[in-house]
This record gives sequence, C-alpha cells and structure tokens, in this order.
Amino acid sequence: MNEGQNSAELQDLYRELILDHARKPRNFGRLNEVTHTAEGINPLCGDKLRLYLHVDSEHMITDVGFEGSGCAISMASASLLTETVNNLSMADASSLFNLITSRLTRQDDDIPATETVDLSKLQALDGVSQHPTRIKCATLAWHTLHAALTQATSIATTE
Ligand code: ZN
Repeated sequence: MNEGQNSAELQDLYRELILDHARKPRNFGRLNEVTHTAEGINPLCGDKLRLYLHVDSEHMITDVGFEGSGCAISMASASLLTETVNNLSMADASSLFNLITSRLTRQDDDIPATETVDLSKLQALDGVSQHPTRIKCATLAWHTLHAALTQATSIATTE
C-alpha cells in the first residue's frame, strides 16, 4: 500500500467518524447536575449549542453533555469534545482548547505530546482546516467549552 492510498483510506475513516458522531451525538442532553455551562453560536453557519459540565471539588470534569443544532461538523465536533474532556481536569481541558483551536486554524502544525488525552479521534477534524468556512463549525464547541470553563461570558461566538 502506498502513502496516497493510505491517506485516502484515512480520509474515508475520518469522514465516517464525523458522520457517525453527527447522526448519533454522544452525551446529547442536559445533565442533572450542572456546575458550568455556556452557549455557543456560529452565526456564519447557524450552528448553536449549549454545553453542560459537572466539575467536582478537585476541579475534575466528571460529566459532560450538550444540546443544540447545526451542521454535521459542528455536531460531530461537540460530540467528540464531550468524549474527550470527560474525566479531564479543568486545566487540561483548557490546554486542549488552545491546542485544538490553534491546530484547526493552522497556527500550529505540531501536536505536542500529551499523556493525558487520546487525540486520535480529534484528528478527524483536521480536514476542515482545508475549508476555511467550516473551521468555525469545528471550533464552536471548543470556544463554548472555554467560555464554560472560564465563565467569562455565557455566550461564546465564533465571530
Ligand atoms: Zn456549521
């Protein structure tokens, strides 16, 4: 198998992963106990979501949920986010926000090594960096996470 075939197959796998998460979003719904929440809006595409976190006294994220509607990429990104940040510390989730957003906007091509988080699934979102109009769809959930963690504002916007 040559490199070209390999990456084409990988692209197919990523497309399937995104469609799967968009059709069956994981952790969809409001949590019973919410300590942090924020709303995110991407006016460019009409994506809208609300993220719910439960953070314990040790600053660990112990539960994550979201509600919303939007395009496949925004929903898949939110679904992947909920799977990724659950059981992370708030500090690790914040670093992940910086990592993912700079990666998707191509400010940073390298993924720093991380022992705490498996980023393999999130690589599925890398394809959007080729499509500038979709980048905000993919980063919306992460901006919303950041807003929820910092409580800076209750509404995060990609604009
Ligand atoms: Zn969108």
